[in-house]
Amino acid sequence: MKLFDLKGKVALVTGGNGGIGLGMAKGLAASGANIAVAGRNKAKADAAVAELVMLGVKAEFIELDVLKEASCRAAVDKTAERFGRLDILVNNSGTNIRKQPQDMTFDDWRTVIDTNLSGAFVCSQAVYPHMKKAGGGKIINIGSMLSIFGTSFASAYAASKGGIVQMTRAFATAWAKDNIQVNAVLPGWIDTDLTRKARSEIDGLHDRVLARTPAQRWGDPDDFGGIAAFLAAPASDFVTGTAIPVDGGYSVQG
Ligand code: NDP
Repeated sequence: MKLFDLKGKVALVTGGNGGIGLGMAKGLAASGANIAVAGRNKAKADAAVAELVMLGVKAEFIELDVLKEASCRAAVDKTAERFGRLDILVNNSGTNIRKQPQDMTFDDWRTVIDTNLSGAFVCSQAVYPHMKKAGGGKIINIGSMLSIFGTSFASAYAASKGGIVQMTRAFATAWAKDNIQVNAVLPGWIDTDLTRKARSEIDGLHDRVLARTPAQRWGDPDDFGGIAAFLAAPASDFVTGTAIPVDGGYSVQG
């Protein structure tokens, strides 16, 4: 058995058109997986697809809005139809609405929970028959440091990311018998579109993160290629239900 070989496998990466999703997609492609880049922004996706194709794999844009159940199910089925199989799902799409809890509307709450948690639930449920048919599969969910810590400005986000960890454990337990491994990755502070805005708006955030991170730097999307390849490969066949920080030591600093 080749521990890290993904040749012939097919991965659907939600939000694979940029940031951490693209970093993971590149890691999967480097190990030989073909990639369905799923998201709403086609221009960003076209650029991501071009980058992945350069790595020598097949890559295509699949339209997806994780806020819509039908769109999740259609994206999964379309991927299986266009690529012939579906072995790996990365539930990476995510958003945040930065407000104090007393200022959040119910719509704000629902948008964040539905994007980050409900979308991952529906996509996971939709891939199950395809993975069963293939004799197994790998699901990688994206949590956050806010799966562990609290913060004043992200109550819905923290609830969704805490939920991701518990959902990961539940699905891992349910589907281990089907040879489907389900794990979560908890990124530290990573330089992406999502955090760039926060960095420019929150006084001192950039330096606070640097001071607290033992690695003494912000993370880069490319830091996620290795963990994605590991959690998608035969190397992790007995690893399931875990939540692995990829944070330069942020969560272990006392
Ligand atoms: P980006 O803003 O670069 O990526 C977010 C992705 O989510 C985009 O590709 C976007 O696609 C997709 N997305 C958002 N809403 C929807 C939707 N309704 N339907 C489909 N796709 C959607 O930020 P990151 O790369 O930082 O975020 C990726 C994941 O990592 C998120 O789950 C985030 O919570 C998590 N994370 C990030 C951290 C960081 O420091 N950056 C820290 C901890 C966790 P589109 O452009 O097509 O809308």
